[in-house]
Amino acid sequence: MQQAIREGVLSINHRSKEFTKISSGTISLLKKKLNIPGDYTVFFTSSATECWEIIAQSLIRKKSLHLYNGSFGEKWFDYTGRIVQEARGISFDLNEELLPERISAAEDAEIICLVQNETSNATQISPAILASFRKRFSDKLIAVDATSSMGGIKLNFRDADVWLASIQKCFGLPAGLGLLICSPAAIKRARELNENDHYNSLIFLDEKMKVWQTSHTPNVLLIYLLGKILKELPAIAEIHRTIAARAKDWYSFFGKSENMKLLVSNKNVRSLTVIAVRGNEEELIKLKERAKKEGILLGNGYGKWSRETFRIANFPAIRESEIVILKKFLKQRMQRDN
Ligand SMILES: *Cc1c(COP(=O)(O)O)cnc(C)c1O
Repeated sequence: MQQAIREGVLSINHRSKEFTKISSGTISLLKKKLNIPGDYTVFFTSSATECWEIIAQSLIRKKSLHLYNGSFGEKWFDYTGRIVQEARGISFDLNEELLPERISAAEDAEIICLVQNETSNATQISPAILASFRKRFSDKLIAVDATSSMGGIKLNFRDADVWLASIQKCFGLPAGLGLLICSPAAIKRARELNENDHYNSLIFLDEKMKVWQTSHTPNVLLIYLLGKILKELPAIAEIHRTIAARAKDWYSFFGKSENMKLLVSNKNVRSLTVIAVRGNEEELIKLKERAKKEGILLGNGYGKWSRETFRIANFPAIRESEIVILKKFLKQRMQRDN
């Protein structure tokens, strides 16, 4: 940030050459580090939530299909339903492995919306299952919310047409910047629909992005910082290995506990980047208070699981030493309660 201030990043004009250099540099690093295909387009938005809205406005004529098992997927479905005429939602169980063979309702949907990592309940749709969705629904657009996994795990971008994320999760940056990544098929659909009623209509964003710009004044500082962070990151395969190993450790850690149980019992659908732990409501309140006193902020549960769970972010920016401190704290509490 100090370097950004020195370089004048905080006051540059977003139509200037200085900005387009930062913007194009960040995008090319993002593509390189995450293995995003060259023919996909990266857009800067304000948040992941805004990306849901852009998809609803610019990529759906009438019918969308949403498959969800938690709060974020449901919210996406709900917001889309306020914009498009026939948003259809199908919920599935927390422990269910979502298989494309089971979805017969997709026939006339123009787009299938999936949440790769459901942050509210710590489940994931594995990259292998996303690949089978791509295979089965090759003629439809597939949109994937990867807000809490992009930058943390290896994703095959070719398996979907639209990817969305924001940078305050696995990229470890302050909130205030969203990423929308579109395949050529998604851009083609946007052109066909030709929706341009909004400042963030996709065809408008696409037009501006041809010269590395945005339709509004973007968060220039965060675009700059994202570029700096990306430069220092190892390849995504290496980050993935670290995250998967840490997740495995967390799952075995709680697997041994009597009073703290994992929310998700099916190993195949457990998230790698968010761990949700279930416990007695009153004990969890005490646990969170105690943690706070020791300088540890335990993540609250979310949505319908808010009271009976707490969540641990297994994001790349978290240090090994911080994991050691948290494990020590939890171990002490577990012993005390036994
Ligand atoms: C955090 C999150 C969002 C919302 O992100 P914003 O940047 O707050 O809009 C959407 N989807 C998922 C899966 C999330 O984890």
